[in-house]
Amino acid sequence: MGTVVISLDAELAWGFVDFPVLPDRRLARAREMWMELLDLFEKYEVPATWAVVGHLFLEDCDGRHPDHPLDATWFDRERSSEHEDMWCAPGLIDAVADATADHEIACHSFSHINFQSSGATKAVAAAELRRCRRLADRYGVELSSFVFPRNRIAHRDVLARSGFHCYRGQQPQRWHTDNRLTPLVRAVSGSPLGITPPIVHPRVDDHGLVEIPASLLLFCFEGWARQITETLWADPVVKMVQRGVDQVNGSDGIFHLWLHPNNLINEAGIKRMESVLSYIDQMRGPGLAVRTMETVAQRTAGSTPQQNW
Ligand SMILES: [Zn+2]
Ligand SMILES: [Zn+2]
Repeated sequence: MGTVVISLDAELAWGFVDFPVLPDRRLARAREMWMELLDLFEKYEVPATWAVVGHLFLEDCDGRHPDHPLDATWFDRERSSEHEDMWCAPGLIDAVADATADHEIACHSFSHINFQSSGATKAVAAAELRRCRRLADRYGVELSSFVFPRNRIAHRDVLARSGFHCYRGQQPQRWHTDNRLTPLVRAVSGSPLGITPPIVHPRVDDHGLVEIPASLLLFCFEGWARQITETLWADPVVKMVQRGVDQVNGSDGIFHLWLHPNNLINEAGIKRMESVLSYIDQMRGPGLAVRTMETVAQRTAGSTPQQNW
């Protein structure tokens, strides 16, 4: 049976904590769009993996983290008065936990430090994960899956020692370079020969963690290109998703979509998500299931090589 996985990097402003300027456009409706997205998942009864930045579990914070081994300047942005409601959000996590769709609450680090950066020592990585686990425990959630900030994979040994079972891997390289056309050109061509995102397979890595590679970022080319393509053609990303779903249906692979809730900034984003979820819902059946990362990891770890997980 084929599987669709949807993972979300749920971070509000933390995804931009090291940017020189916060992107007002992405953040202006971030809370509202988180809830819109959740409503869409409810409407189609599609469960997702919400990889939440651990700091969002906090009710409030003065922006000081003296016992965190990370350089204190990392939290300068949090202490500034910009977008004050974007650093703590237990109410939004409550909404995910209370939803009827059986979502997984996963981890996206405590403060969105790039694990490959020079400041992210093993001690920092361990402290980030420890804080998340403590906050989630208090909240009654057992963290199992991890999404690395910026998808920069490092310190997997620390992740395994911290009790995690799986993480999102990189999208396979060069999946779109099988001919000389650019992905955008092929995506908008509308032709059945247009690109199909990769179907992936989980694997157990050398630390015993299950790696579930990504297939497609749902907001992969935005801005002018998207405006132009939407004027002339149907949303090319929806077409790519349809091809991916058709391909995984009845196979033994995974089609792993991902996005940030704050990628939704307007009605076009909501429309795209509605089209994606309604197509997945329509195609669900004996050959296709929707699963969380945690469920995929459990099935992978519990299967023998002969079994179709
Ligand atoms: Zn703080
Ligand atoms: Zn992120």
